[in-house]
Amino acid sequence: MPETGGAYAQARFAIRRPSFDLGLRPFIVIWEITRACDLACAHCRASAMPERNPGELSPEESRSLIDQIAAFGPPAPLFVMTGGDPVKRPDLLELVSYASSRGLPVSLSPSATPLLTPSLVRELRSAGLVALSLSVDGASAQVHDAFRGVDGVFERTLAAWEAARECGLKVQINTTVAKLNMLDLPRIAHLVLERGAMTWSVFFLVPVGRGISLEQLSPEECEDVMHFLYDAGTVLRVKTTEGHHYKRIVLERMALERRGLKPEQVLKLGPTYRALRGALEPWPARPSERRTPIEINAGRGFVFISHVGSVHPSGFLTAAGGDVRTAPLAQIYRKSPMFTELRDMAKLQGRCGACEFARMCGGSRSRAYATTGNHLAEDPLCGYVPGSFPFPGDIGELVGKRPAEHTAERSA
Ligand code: SF4
Repeated sequence: MPETGGAYAQARFAIRRPSFDLGLRPFIVIWEITRACDLACAHCRASAMPERNPGELSPEESRSLIDQIAAFGPPAPLFVMTGGDPVKRPDLLELVSYASSRGLPVSLSPSATPLLTPSLVRELRSAGLVALSLSVDGASAQVHDAFRGVDGVFERTLAAWEAARECGLKVQINTTVAKLNMLDLPRIAHLVLERGAMTWSVFFLVPVGRGISLEQLSPEECEDVMHFLYDAGTVLRVKTTEGHHYKRIVLERMALERRGLKPEQVLKLGPTYRALRGALEPWPARPSERRTPIEINAGRGFVFISHVGSVHPSGFLTAAGGDVRTAPLAQIYRKSPMFTELRDMAKLQGRCGACEFARMCGGSRSRAYATTGNHLAEDPLCGYVPGSFPFPGDIGELVGKRPAEHTAERSA
């Protein structure tokens, strides 16, 4: 088995784990500052409408929420303002400026409408914004605008992308993958490579909001897409959203690499993988530092606050653990039954409950809830049969534990 010191050093960091207690403080806070949006995207979680809800958190309530997020203390959680389209809030610049003045690293996830001008991007940067997320669901206007429901969105996205890079903002490109755009992923990967981005974040559809009507991937296609993303991740900094079992794929692939084995020799990779992998070529051979996934999940490092103040373990998990209008955010995050239950891995059910990867992965709690009404059920998009990976001891080493400890944890 080719196991060099260098490979082992890399393996020890296969999955990042926050250095603080995720039961006390989140790693990332996402706030839906409004649900209003002028687009009509086919997958919209929020089923956003053009008009703002009069029940949105007021400017005063919004500043109080920002104060509560800042009160978690250093290291400050990542703070994302999303929507709907956050640009529909007239006090957006003040909110960014206030959050920045409280020491929060602010990211924004706007929609590419005529409101998102290059000059607004520069003003946001001046107000203290550090990163901008833009959606690219197809590598051409034809695919992307069909997904987004409005013509011209693709061109405006490219303009905002350029403006963001010019004024020094970090850029994250978000791609929601569904059956209709799955085979466009290699072309999107090349677009991200050419134009440059800090991260390419691939969202795996959860059937909520308007996303109910989109055709999802099968578990086999999802597996193939994730293996393709691992390959693209030699050059791009790839992450997944609501695709937690990508962490399992990373561990499996790293374990096979350490043994000098090709995935095709050991794992069942299907025709979708072969089609995506073929279309990715030519892909640069320069390996960069792979972005290691982080061990967080719904309610376990992650918290979402809706436009009306309800607090959710994820933006795609429609059940709430509380409301910031009636209880402090920290209290809901630390003590609400829904959040504490989600942090107890022993409560997971079905295949996720029996899986040796559960602590690192845990499956999409949002998808489990959306499809079964039970947030602890197995993730139906993952086809893994627990115990079927042939080198379990290697996984224990990859996550920084001796194999015996790893096995004991799962059987306890
Ligand atoms: S069975 Fe559940 S915990 Fe295991 S890899 Fe799949 S989604 Fe993750």
